[in-house]
Amino acid sequence: MHWVGNGFPVRSVFDYNGLGRELSPFLLLDYAAPYQFPPGNEKRGVGGHPHKGFETVTVAYQGELEHRDSSGGSGKIGAGDVQWMTAGNGIVHEEFHSADFARHGGTLQMVQLWVNLRAQDKSAEAGYQTLLKVQIPTVELPQDAGAVRVIAGDFAGQKGAAKTFTPINVWDVNLRAGKAAELPLPDGHTTTFLVLSGDVLVNGEKVARAGDLAIFARAGNGIRLEAKTEAKLLLMDGEPIDEPIVGHGPFVMNSRAEIQQAFEDYQLGKMGEIDA
Ligand code: MN
Repeated sequence: MHWVGNGFPVRSVFDYNGLGRELSPFLLLDYAAPYQFPPGNEKRGVGGHPHKGFETVTVAYQGELEHRDSSGGSGKIGAGDVQWMTAGNGIVHEEFHSADFARHGGTLQMVQLWVNLRAQDKSAEAGYQTLLKVQIPTVELPQDAGAVRVIAGDFAGQKGAAKTFTPINVWDVNLRAGKAAELPLPDGHTTTFLVLSGDVLVNGEKVARAGDLAIFARAGNGIRLEAKTEAKLLLMDGEPIDEPIVGHGPFVMNSRAEIQQAFEDYQLGKMGEIDA
């Protein structure tokens, strides 16, 4: 576990240096497991810092976060809400506990996922989407097995809330104890999930538990899950991007030269500023 700023006690479940190619288009996943913050007056989080070349997806399970960025985007998200930020051609943002949450204290639980952009989309204009809980469609699973919240992509014909660049599915999967579900997924896609809570038997073979990351072969048309207990998963599925991944800190590009350029652009203020 390490701290991002003074607000986010996270475990890096994977990153682009380790599994960047295997999990393409997903670059990084930081998981802040439930952590109790006392009430306080301190501002907690990370101040202005840049990103370029990918998208950051922040899923709040518990607690409340505030975001502001140099594209003019801002938003507050709490349990069940998601922030989808396209760093694209460069952005500066800050991520803090909301003033209210900081003052009252409480449990924080969240995920931040980085999704790569194709070379042609790395120059896309930076942007920001707040996806509130009410905007994220829910699909009930057959036989009362639970429900899938479609953050991005589609499930059973229901389109997700986020606007995305490459074919991708991000689902908040909630299963009832003792129930089974088949999740259809495109052949050839990268598929992985993080278990937030509970135990699930995967494809009748292995049990995944809270904190585990399951990684699947790309061939195949779906997965089968049997919930041993009530379970919650974040499922990530996407078309792999077959391009070089060169990352350094907050930038992920296709070459060393582009990384160097990103650092220069940031230092020259070309990624903008957050309004005072
Ligand atoms: Mn950031």
